[in-house]
Amino acid sequence: MLIGKREKISEKKVKMLEIISIIAIVAFAILSYIFSTFILKKDSRNISVYVDGKRITQVNGHKIDINVNGTYVIGDKSGDYNVIEIKDKKVSCIEANCPDEICVKHGDLRKDLDNDMIICAPHRMTIQYE
Ligand SMILES: [Zn+2]
Repeated sequence: MLIGKREKISEKKVKMLEIISIIAIVAFAILSYIFSTFILKKDSRNISVYVDGKRITQVNGHKIDINVNGTYVIGDKSGDYNVIEIKDKKVSCIEANCPDEICVKHGDLRKDLDNDMIICAPHRMTIQYE
């Protein structure tokens, strides 16, 4: 009788541990979801900027990062320039001295479109999501 009771208690303990571990796993999953969605809010897709077929990853020592607000002046020796602005994870070319200014008129680079690209043909510059 006594042995039977002991077995029952340990069985209960095992069940409790099972329930606790399930709750812990579920809680961890929910917490990590909340953390990644609402707290980190990081965009995993960075942008890539190309000038003349060469990738530009930083301007004056500042890394081009979609998660960091900033303005980058991309220019060359001949005086051609494009001003790229990253604001609230949106990227656009806000100023340029190219003749057509198609790059400026493009506005924000669209993330919801598959192959959206800001193109400045006269300056041979492109901006797109990686
Ligand atoms: Zn342009």
